[in-house]
Amino acid sequence: MKLNEIKLENFRNIEKMVCNPCESVNIIYGDNAQGKTNLIESIWLFTGNQSFRGSKMSELIQFNQQQTKITILFSDKERQQNAEFSIGSKKNITVNHIPLKKQSELNGVFYAVVFSPSHLSLIKDGPQNRRKFIDIAVSQIKPQYDDYLSKYEKILEQRNAFLKYSNRYPNLEQDIDIWDIQLSKIGTILSIYRNDYIKKLLSFSQLIYKGLSSKKEEFFIQYISTIYENMDEITVYDDKQVEQYYNKLKETYHLDVKLGYTTCGIHRDDLEITINGHSVKNFGSQGQQRSSVIALKLSEAGILKKATGENPIILLDDVMSELDEKRQDYILNHVKEMQVFITCCDVSNTEKLKNGRVFHIQNGEINEVYDIKT
Ligand code: ATP
Ligand code: MG
Repeated sequence: MKLNEIKLENFRNIEKMVCNPCESVNIIYGDNAQGKTNLIESIWLFTGNQSFRGSKMSELIQFNQQQTKITILFSDKERQQNAEFSIGSKKNITVNHIPLKKQSELNGVFYAVVFSPSHLSLIKDGPQNRRKFIDIAVSQIKPQYDDYLSKYEKILEQRNAFLKYSNRYPNLEQDIDIWDIQLSKIGTILSIYRNDYIKKLLSFSQLIYKGLSSKKEEFFIQYISTIYENMDEITVYDDKQVEQYYNKLKETYHLDVKLGYTTCGIHRDDLEITINGHSVKNFGSQGQQRSSVIALKLSEAGILKKATGENPIILLDDVMSELDEKRQDYILNHVKEMQVFITCCDVSNTEKLKNGRVFHIQNGEINEVYDIKT
């Protein structure tokens, strides 16, 4: 997948811009607050996902303007395509001039992965962020995953409502069984999807992390289940696994009643990420934590490519800081076959680039473009 052109009108601080990236690495550099992340954000819109900044659509419109419009020309391995996004009193999206009903219909049209410094929370914060990461990643390649997950969440909500007001239900232990049976079935399916994804992620990320650390560090990631002790056994759905899930819910029933919520299940699971055997969250340096997230994001791209046959576009916002020269060199010069966009403040990063295009951005405008070939 290649982005050939992006045109912006009244998008945040960018009044008018046309950008024609090259098919390898594109560096967008400039001082703080000039519009680098804004440009990355405008590309990300076309994946159909929520803003990685958590912004509302209306916030994308330039101050004192009524509407913003972004148009892209892109090519997948079959053909050239175009898409347009306009946000005003209404949101209109077209692909090849045909209007879409929902933004999510862009899923499967335009593929990208994004790294932004806010994604460091994947390592630094609690398990909720890691579960969110895996849920979004799996649903990109297995569309049915979302349906299972929302069913699970609804049943869990009902079970928790019963637990919270347990004194109102004299036969709670029996009544709750109906939820336990359903949670066990769907929870088992979701555990298998997630575990399978993490195993794929492991093989990609170990290789990438080796490259990033000049073979000095060993990266490892695994799924930590609150139900199953040995995730290696959880590969295909069968009654034995459902039973194990069910039994665990029964085991924790009294604790659940005491606390008023369901204490085990996929909604409490986590990912463990280590470097050289030590938790990155607890012991990793800034550079190691950042490298881990980058490795995960690039792995996500590798898995997406395997599943769809398309190379996703890699968007790396402010990725260079805290990384040493070798790691910067890996990111600039060793991500092969994929189109990459990297934002940075420091002009010296552009000097390390061996092959690509550099855009200097100032006050929402591109005021210099040049190619580098060595
Ligand atoms: P940094 O290096 O600090 O990350 P950046 O170049 O990535 O900087 P952006 O996040 O792209 O900066 O933001 C550029 C400017 O856009 C900021 O000054 C911001 O206040 C401004 N901005 C954000 N939203 C809007 C909007 N809706 N209308 C006008 N300007 C906006
Ligand atoms: Mg920025």
